[in-house]
Amino acid sequence: MGIERLKKEVCRANIKLYRSGLVTSTFGNVSGIDRERSLVAIKPSGVSYESLTYRDIVVLNLDGVKIEGKLNPSSDTKTHLELYRNFKDIGGVAHTHSTFATAWAQSCKPIPCLGTTHADFFYGEIPCTDVISDSGIKGDYELETGKLIVNTFKSRDYDSIKAVLVACHGPFSWGVSADEAVEMSIALEDIAKVAMFTMIINSQSLNIKKSLLDKHYLRKHGKDAYYGQKKG
Ligand SMILES: [Zn+2]
Repeated sequence: MGIERLKKEVCRANIKLYRSGLVTSTFGNVSGIDRERSLVAIKPSGVSYESLTYRDIVVLNLDGVKIEGKLNPSSDTKTHLELYRNFKDIGGVAHTHSTFATAWAQSCKPIPCLGTTHADFFYGEIPCTDVISDSGIKGDYELETGKLIVNTFKSRDYDSIKAVLVACHGPFSWGVSADEAVEMSIALEDIAKVAMFTMIINSQSLNIKKSLLDKHYLRKHGKDAYYGQKKG
């Protein structure tokens, strides 16, 4: 993929995130990666979505060295880069402080998989990281946040659960592209909201049973997926 194309795609994804209502002010950021060239394109720091154009998008290599762009990259760039270095198949990352997902993150609780809406997108609960240590806060905070996420997925599959809650902070999501990362943020916010209401109505609500989880997740994402329209 050409860099201009990646910058345009990342710009469009950032604007889509803004229009989805999941971000206020300049909070939130989306990035995308060109795996062939190992270049990451990301929203600049503190620039309003209203005035964002693809020319503002900053391009860096995986070590965080700026390759293109006049502006400073998002302050969360090191978290994004840590995800790209460790989750080898992903093509995009999104971060928001969306209300319902952030409420779960602030409660330091994973979002249980209570129903089929959740199971359509994520193959099980959305995990919550540990609370970042004081040394992590004093040190390279955004990099340490990335490491916390990677650590949370040591025993999980980042391909079937494309989101995480960073404890006391908010959600990160990812996908095969910047656009899919945004789609995951939107889906996550919806399931976070429904899960909260479900737990209010019945705090003893149980995780969806395995057979129903499998049915809903695998009919969309399994090797014999049949949901939607055939591609090509
Ligand atoms: Zn944040």
